[in-house]
Amino acid sequence: MADASTDILIIGAGAVGLAIARKAALSGRDVILVETNESFGMETSSRNSEVIHAGIYYPEDSLKGQLCVKGALAMYEFCNARGITTKNYGKLIVATDDSQIQGLESLKDKGERNQVPGLEIVAGQALSEKEPYLKAVAALHSPLTGVVDSHGYMAQLEAEAENAGAIIAYQSRFQSAVKTAHGYDVVIDGQGEEMTLSCRHIINAAGHGSFQVSHKIDAMDAASIPPHYMAKGQYFTTTKKAPFSHLIYPMPSGGGLGIHLTIDTQGGARFGPDIQWVDEMDYSVNPADRDKFYQLISSYWPDLEPEDLVPAWAGVRPKIYDNGKVFQDFTIHQQHDHGAEGVIALYAIDSPGLTSSLALADHVMGLEQIQ
Ligand SMILES: Cc1cc2nc3c(=O)[nH]c(=O)nc-3n(C[C@H](O)[C@H](O)[C@H](O)COP(=O)(O)OP(=O)(O)OC[C@H]3O[C@@H](n4cnc5c(N)ncnc54)[C@H](O)[C@@H]3O)c2cc1C
Repeated sequence: MADASTDILIIGAGAVGLAIARKAALSGRDVILVETNESFGMETSSRNSEVIHAGIYYPEDSLKGQLCVKGALAMYEFCNARGITTKNYGKLIVATDDSQIQGLESLKDKGERNQVPGLEIVAGQALSEKEPYLKAVAALHSPLTGVVDSHGYMAQLEAEAENAGAIIAYQSRFQSAVKTAHGYDVVIDGQGEEMTLSCRHIINAAGHGSFQVSHKIDAMDAASIPPHYMAKGQYFTTTKKAPFSHLIYPMPSGGGLGIHLTIDTQGGARFGPDIQWVDEMDYSVNPADRDKFYQLISSYWPDLEPEDLVPAWAGVRPKIYDNGKVFQDFTIHQQHDHGAEGVIALYAIDSPGLTSSLALADHVMGLEQIQ
């Protein structure tokens, strides 16, 4: 006899697992969410830029393309209705020389295909009026982009999930699941003490842990589980007051969005993330990378000096490869992908996963397999 039973077991209390738990509980489903850390959002969900992305960069038939715009609108509405701070600063993607202007036009087209509202290319006087200290020949202005207090957002998701009846168990690590006639028998490690739980459905939202979690579900076809890659991103802050009122992005490059300047909800500037492939989880920041950050940032903020930059924090993007190339979309596997009835597995939920979290929750809870 299991220690507990539930309809839906969710693994991982990052922004995505919490949003799914809230959605499922509000729909009247029995939910248990297990999280190995002592609180929510202690991994990727608290190690990012906190940007509410508008959805410009993604192919229109991709999940990112579909869910980012929906997610951004849903996040503003959700946070604004509950007094969670968002700042709709808007964003400028900058062309620092004429050769990049064509790239801005392509990004504008891409964004418009994804229904991103209000995109406009600005140059000359109009650009210097927006940002007098910015060095750029032109920029793509995205008025929807902003930032969110991600901790406040996740705390609200947690509270609403629990108020709707979800049980959230911290310091509880998913160990393994065995298929039964009615669902799964699951073993959870609660700080060295083993507990068993029976459930009908499993939603694997374990971020970097999702690959390992899937390997521990006996009914999963192991060949369907993608190999796990990690792309670290470091941040620097500055002691200098940044003279910008928009988020400033260079043209995207090399699997990331380029080292950008974001302004947090308190008005502080930070720069990053860069991109470095790593073999193990590593949240350190290398102070020697300051010069690289300086070179990139000074291309659009010439008044910055290298000594103005201070190492801050790092996050790690979960990535997968397909046919030898980084696969850039969210990957959500269902039974027809992996063979395990009642299991949904989310892989490579990198940027814009925070922005998309409410839309991802709607998407996952709308899948036929979870009904
Ligand atoms: C550098 C960087 C910058 C980013 N910037 C942005 C941005 O500006 N805007 C944006 O929208 N997105 C951004 N993202 C992406 C965003 O942070 C992620 O998409 C999002 O946080 C993913 O949330 P998650 O819940 O899937 O994963 P996580 O937050 O990693 O949560 C997964 C949870 O599962 C738990 N877990 C793992 N294994 C187990 C287990 N066996 N048992 C129980 N629990 C387990 C972990 O402890 C963790 O808490 C960025 C990401 C990075 C790395």
